[in-house]
Amino acid sequence: MKPQLIDPFGRKIEYLRLSVTDKCNLRCFYCLPKGFNDFDEKRLLLTQDEMLRIVAAFAELGIRRLRITGGEPLIRKDLQELTARLSSLPGIEDLSLSTNASLLKQQAEELRAAGISRINVSLDTLRQDRFHAINGGHLSEALDGLMIAKSVGFSPIKINMVVMKGINDDEFEDMVAFCLEHDFTLRFIETMPVSSAGRKGSQHYLPLQQVEARLKRRFKMVDSVMPGGGPARYCQVSGTKLRIGFITPISQHFCKTCNRVRLTATGTLHLCLGNEHKIELREKLRKGISDKALKQCLIDALSLKPERHHFDESPDKIVRFMSKIGG
Ligand code: SAM
Repeated sequence: MKPQLIDPFGRKIEYLRLSVTDKCNLRCFYCLPKGFNDFDEKRLLLTQDEMLRIVAAFAELGIRRLRITGGEPLIRKDLQELTARLSSLPGIEDLSLSTNASLLKQQAEELRAAGISRINVSLDTLRQDRFHAINGGHLSEALDGLMIAKSVGFSPIKINMVVMKGINDDEFEDMVAFCLEHDFTLRFIETMPVSSAGRKGSQHYLPLQQVEARLKRRFKMVDSVMPGGGPARYCQVSGTKLRIGFITPISQHFCKTCNRVRLTATGTLHLCLGNEHKIELREKLRKGISDKALKQCLIDALSLKPERHHFDESPDKIVRFMSKIGG
């Protein structure tokens, strides 16, 4: 029987999030501070071959789902080539991408051809002035990217909206209408106090139960499911195809069903988004570790996976930026 990745709490790990760069072209205030420029040095970044080696080892151990994230993955010059190589790795059944869509207009077609079938797009607002205030970017670029993504056939396209009281809490219904119109899936996300930036975002924290209650007063919604391996709980708007997901890391954490680990662009394997448990893989690769020893190292790393995050009890714990680990 093939080896499996099972952690000390009996959770089967089959999902890897791969951050392919810590750089981003936007500065969402709850993720990366304005003016931040202290990115990883080039010599510390995994090469394409090194990334492939680690993902291949994971795939042999049972990882089936792979999400490319960042930073903003579309900033990477070799993303198409990297994607094509990742998508042809034996064992990887589902390859997806998280993006802010601003650069998608130019790259959607080639990424689709390279093997990505579904994407998640971060979009917190549909108002240009607000978009710029939140992240310094231009809404039109993100919308253009989204429309091209739809036209080249990505499916499903999931819109991820970080919900923030006093910032975008007057737009839930507009976002529902937008997703209905374009046949996108909508997911609301609670702010997490990851890094000093995340803690700024958390000042606007709104439990998603309130969002759900508000939408249920306006729309008839029934429980639903959606494939994808993630922690969202879904409802469907009756009489439509629209599914709405609620991702509640704070008000109702889902650590019990956590099935994932995260690899940064510099080769750090994080066992939990809300803890510091990790191992460093880059130097092991550069010192010539064998494939067998690498796999053993990944299996052993799982013994470090903590039972749950502690955002509630110790919100100041995580100092790394979300852009480094990819959400
Ligand atoms: N650039 C890509 C994107 O925009 O999707 C991938 C990386 S981004 C870090 C991944 C996701 O993390 C985005 O949906 C973003 O909104 C979310 N995120 C970042 N900081 C967060 C925070 N403090 N709380 C909740 N979600 C956060």
